[in-house]
Amino acid sequence: MDLLIGNETVRPSRIFCIGRNYVDHAKELKNEVPTSPVVFMKPATSLVPEGEAIPVPSHGEEFHFEAELVVLIGKEGRAVTLEQAPGFIKALSLGLDLTLRDVQSRLKGKGLPWECAKAFDGSAPLGAFKPIGPSMPLEEITFTCHVNDELRQSGNTNTMIFPIKTLVVELSRVWKLLPGDLIYTGTPSGVGPLNRGDRITVASPVIGSFSWTVASAT
Ligand code: ZN
Repeated sequence: MDLLIGNETVRPSRIFCIGRNYVDHAKELKNEVPTSPVVFMKPATSLVPEGEAIPVPSHGEEFHFEAELVVLIGKEGRAVTLEQAPGFIKALSLGLDLTLRDVQSRLKGKGLPWECAKAFDGSAPLGAFKPIGPSMPLEEITFTCHVNDELRQSGNTNTMIFPIKTLVVELSRVWKLLPGDLIYTGTPSGVGPLNRGDRITVASPVIGSFSWTVASAT
């Protein structure tokens, strides 16, 4: 999937995801609050553009949504300081970090990697990007997630454990950032199951509103 930003096309190269980035969600899954960001990755085949049906994986039972703010990196290099971080951020969107919670619990219990629980095809629906301007309040962005018109999640980036600029700096310590890199920044509390035919909508007053329907048949 190519991303259209204004009239420029960007091909995502890597999808970084942050786990346990909101205290209330870490608590609802009975996880410790981390002292450095929990990072995992998804392949580009995880992306589902708006308007396409979300496929339902068959290798688990508890298919959960996690609504997340998504950052698009627009510059190559490393952000060493928090002041440098905004210069690497090209645009923002909202997406879903879809998770097979039962598979994840089994893997976590054995101390094994999470790919089968989180990096399957179609596990990262992604909305359209809103280019960031100097007035975009990175530390004060609210967003919601509705399933079948019922409010399920309500987030504000001011409750992130590791704010957006910190994530850009922390990722830069390990990876040289590349244009097209995506960062799914973690989910607030309220995660829950998705069923076939459900309609899920993520929305933010400063980014936009994006909806998907869960595939009704295999
Ligand atoms: Zn997540």
